[in-house]
Amino acid sequence: MNDEFKEIIDGEDVVNTETNTTEETVNTSDENEYEDICYICRRPSSVAGRMIKIQDGLCICNDCMQKTFDSMNSGNFGMGNLFGGDFGNMPNIKMVNLADLQGGIPNSQKLKKKKPKEKKEAPILDIHSIPAPHKIKASLDEYVVGQEYAKKVMSVAVYNHYKRVMSKEEDGIEIEKSNMLMIGPTGSGKTYLVKTLARLLDVPLAITDATSLTEAGYIGDDIESVVSKLLAAADNDVEKAEHGIIFIDEIDKLAKKRNANQRDVSGESVQQGMLKLLEGAEIEVPVGASSKNAMVPMTTVDTKNILFICGGAFPDLDEIIKERLNKEASIGFKADLKDKYDDNENILMEATIEDVRKFGMIPEFLGRLPIMFSLEALTEDMLVKILVEPKNAITKQYKRLLEMDEVLLEFDDDALHAIAAKAKEKKVGARALRAIIEEFMLDIMYEIPKDDNIGKVTITGDYIEKKGGPLIEMRGVAQLEAR
Ligand code: ADP
Repeated sequence: MNDEFKEIIDGEDVVNTETNTTEETVNTSDENEYEDICYICRRPSSVAGRMIKIQDGLCICNDCMQKTFDSMNSGNFGMGNLFGGDFGNMPNIKMVNLADLQGGIPNSQKLKKKKPKEKKEAPILDIHSIPAPHKIKASLDEYVVGQEYAKKVMSVAVYNHYKRVMSKEEDGIEIEKSNMLMIGPTGSGKTYLVKTLARLLDVPLAITDATSLTEAGYIGDDIESVVSKLLAAADNDVEKAEHGIIFIDEIDKLAKKRNANQRDVSGESVQQGMLKLLEGAEIEVPVGASSKNAMVPMTTVDTKNILFICGGAFPDLDEIIKERLNKEASIGFKADLKDKYDDNENILMEATIEDVRKFGMIPEFLGRLPIMFSLEALTEDMLVKILVEPKNAITKQYKRLLEMDEVLLEFDDDALHAIAAKAKEKKVGARALRAIIEEFMLDIMYEIPKDDNIGKVTITGDYIEKKGGPLIEMRGVAQLEAR
C-alpha cells in the first residue's frame, strides 16, 4: 500500500466518525441482518471483504477503492475530484452519480447475512417437525374438497422430498427428487393445493406462469427468474429459498409446436432450459430484481433441494387419451363401443407419460418430473361442498360479514345447488362460484344495513334463479331490546 493510499484511508476514518451518529441510527437490528454491498462492483461483503462506509449506509469495497485511487494517481486527479467532477477514463466509477448515492441501496436488493456457522442454530427443517403423510393430508382436507388421490400423492411426495433434503448421503444411496406434474381442468384446485401445502409446511413458495417464460435473450422472463422470485418470497434468505417450492402453472403452454418452422423460443426451448433447474444446479440470480443487469447484486442459489411442481390443464389431452384407449379397445377381445369414453369427464385421470409426450412435452422434461397425477373435474356436489365445508369457505366469509351487523345469514340447500349448477355451466371449475355469489350478495349487503329490525336473511333457490326474493325475518322484541 502506498503512502497516499494510507493517507486516504485515514481520511476515510475521519468521514466515518463524522457520520457515526447517523449510521448507528440507520443500523438498527433489522439493518444488521443484511450484508453490506459495494456500490461500485455490487459484490456483498462476504465476497469482497471489508467495506469502507461513506455515508447513508453506502459502502465501497477495498478493491474498488484501491482501483479508484490507483487511477487517480496515474491521471493526476486531486482529492477534490473524488466524487464530484469529471472522472475521465477511470474504470467502473463512471456510473457513480452523487444524487443516487443519497438513498443507499434498498433492503430489497440486499442479501441477508449468512448465519455464523459456530452458533448452533435450530435447523430450518427438522425431520421431526415434518408431519407424516397422513397428517399432511388431514390438514389439506380442511381446505381442499375432494381430490383424494391428488392429496394422497402430494402428501407422500412432499414428505419424501423433505426426508431426502435432510438425509445424509453416507452409503451411496441418493434419494431422487420428487418433482411433480399435476394435470387438471381449470379451477379444479391446482394452485390452491400447492398454496395450502406451502402454508402448512411453512416454506417459501413462488408461483410463475410458464407463458411468460422465454429462452434467455428473448423478450419475456428468463427461466432463471423463477428462482429469484423464490428468493424474494424467502425474504432474500438463500438457505430458506433452497428449501422452498416453485409452482409453474400453465406448463402445457410449453408443448412443442406442431409444424413450427421458426425457432420456438417460448415452447420447447423453455422445456430444454428448465432441465438443469429441475434436476439441481447452482443458479446465479439477481437480488431484488427479475432481470440481471450491472446495477443489481447477484447471489448463487442451489436448486438441488427446491421442490418443483408443474401444473396445467392440458386441453385436448383427452383426445389423445381417448384415441389410445379406443385403439387398445378395438384390438382383440376387449373390443368395445367407440364412443364409450366420450362422456367421461375424468378421462384425464387415465393419462400416461406417453400421452403427455404425444401432447408435446419432451421426454427429458417428463423424466425430471417423476410424479405425475391428475385432478378430478369438480362435480355439482363437490362445488356445493366447496361452498360450505372448507375452513375459509366463501359462505362462511359472508356469514361473518353480516354477523358484524348482527344479522344471521343462511343459505338453504336449493340455493347451494342452484349456485353450483350455475357455476358448472361456466366450465371454469370453482372459480365461477365467487363471481356468482358476489352478483346476488350485492343487493343483500346494500339493503340489509338500512334496517335495524332485520334479524335473519335466508338465501333461497328461487332468489338465485331470479324467481323470488330472499326470506327476511325480523328481530324479536327481546333481541331488539338487547341491542
Ligand atoms: P387451478 O386449478 O386453475 O389452478 P385454482 O387452484 O386457482 O384453480 O382454483 C381457484 C379457486 O377455486 C381457489 O382459490 C379455491 O378457492 C377454489 N377451489 C378450487 N378447487 C377447490 C377444492 N377442491 N376445494 C376447495 N376450493 C377449491
